[in-house]
Amino acid sequence: MDVEYIKSHLVPHPDFPKKGIVFLDIFPLLRNPLAFETLITNFVHHLTSSTAAKSPTKKIDVIVGLDARGFLLGPIIALRLGAAFVPVRKRGKLPGQCHTASYEKEYGVDNFDIQVDAIKPGQTVVVVDDLIATGGSAKAAGELVTKCGSQVLEYLFIIELTFLKPSEKLDAPLYSIVKVD
Ligand code: 5GP
Repeated sequence: MDVEYIKSHLVPHPDFPKKGIVFLDIFPLLRNPLAFETLITNFVHHLTSSTAAKSPTKKIDVIVGLDARGFLLGPIIALRLGAAFVPVRKRGKLPGQCHTASYEKEYGVDNFDIQVDAIKPGQTVVVVDDLIATGGSAKAAGELVTKCGSQVLEYLFIIELTFLKPSEKLDAPLYSIVKVD
């Protein structure tokens, strides 16, 4: 089954980046072309099938990828769908006028930027990242999409830490392939 196959390429690293955290590394998945293809096909199939945010007919205009591992998934999904790719970056990395949204990190607050003209009002947007934990960064990305005058159709992740209940923070459905509880 796809899910078990994808899961088998995620490697846990205890005590990284600090003691007590088990970091799930997605890079072994990207190292294996068949596993990477299976992952992308799973996302694309989901978005083009009737399960996608209960809106199968809605054309997806924009895939928003989150800094930094969302940049490895978003452009491929966007190309497969014939959609635009738009990055959400840590503050200060994007040129031109930007909207900003802040989110809680373990220690303090961080900020995400999006270029003001990256998404046109009313466009259909899907947000993608490798993993959702508390949901803080995804929520901030959703706020940036709203500031652009648009709305998130769905949030996509390889991994969801379900015990942190991230979906409760989001303004649209969450799709994840591997659930960690
Ligand atoms: P959140 O904002 O939902 O609390 O955290 C999600 C962010 O933390 C994502 O950008 C994700 O890349 C990163 N992250 C946190 N823990 C892990 C982990 O165990 N593995 C990976 N690959 N990313 C993680």
